[in-house]
Amino acid sequence: MPGQHFEIRDERFAKLILPGENIAVLWTGGRWAEGPAYFAKGRYLVWSDIPNDRVLRWDEASGAVDIFEQPCRNHNGHTLDLEGRLIACEHRGRCVSRYETDGSKTILADSFEGKRLNSPNDAVVKSDGSIWFTDPSYGIDSDVEGDAAPMEQDGRHVYRIDPSGAITRVVDDMKQPNGLAFSADETVLYVADTGKTHFPDCAPKIRKYPVLADGASLGPGEDFVYSDAGLFDGFRLDTEGNIWTSAGDGVHCFAPDGILLGKILTDEVVANVCFGGRERNRLFICATSTLRSIHVNARGLK
Ligand code: MG
Repeated sequence: MPGQHFEIRDERFAKLILPGENIAVLWTGGRWAEGPAYFAKGRYLVWSDIPNDRVLRWDEASGAVDIFEQPCRNHNGHTLDLEGRLIACEHRGRCVSRYETDGSKTILADSFEGKRLNSPNDAVVKSDGSIWFTDPSYGIDSDVEGDAAPMEQDGRHVYRIDPSGAITRVVDDMKQPNGLAFSADETVLYVADTGKTHFPDCAPKIRKYPVLADGASLGPGEDFVYSDAGLFDGFRLDTEGNIWTSAGDGVHCFAPDGILLGKILTDEVVANVCFGGRERNRLFICATSTLRSIHVNARGLK
């Protein structure tokens, strides 16, 4: 029945959804869907099916799904850079890479201070062209989502790749940093912590860090919001600053002030989301075995 998949906690959420809209299941058959990225130019979306070591592509015009790349070194998160090139977080490659317009691939980061990264998970591009990414250990914990290997870094952190290629560590106080996104004015970086998978006392949450005046480093972080259902993994913001985040029971929507406005409920765990479509008001949802979408009354940030 239309509307049953919405849980409204605050009346502001009623204005952000379209009550008659159902969730469309666009594709099923994956093991762990992640890393959606929408290409407005070509009207298609790519996403990862991590344990099956493949990137899939959904065509918006035809609805067809095909293999974008397999094997792919167990990609996880994707995003686009300022020139529209695909940026990939590779578990098995233990790197962040970029697809060039000639079809070749460039490794942007695979180590920090001489030691290999763990397994880059998600990335975001800032307006200055820098790429910020998280590096939890999920891709080296077992052979399911990459190759099991000992951790070389002293923990799981967040890094920044300068347009010059220089890499700096920007967050070092998280357990398992995961999804991340900037506020619209880029004064705040939000980062999800899924550390509960390894540290039972680590509450599932999104933290916020002020971006300092140099635009390249962060001030002390603080917890922003906590999950009441599973873990927050990947997330995106809309143009009003609302956060649409993956969670154990669907997608949770938080206002910029941290109030939970409501949920879009699904029967599978959601790992990541992104906005797309002609009006950028279609929310794509990577939910375990499926790719889903729903139109909302909000537009995603570029
Ligand atoms: Mg993730």
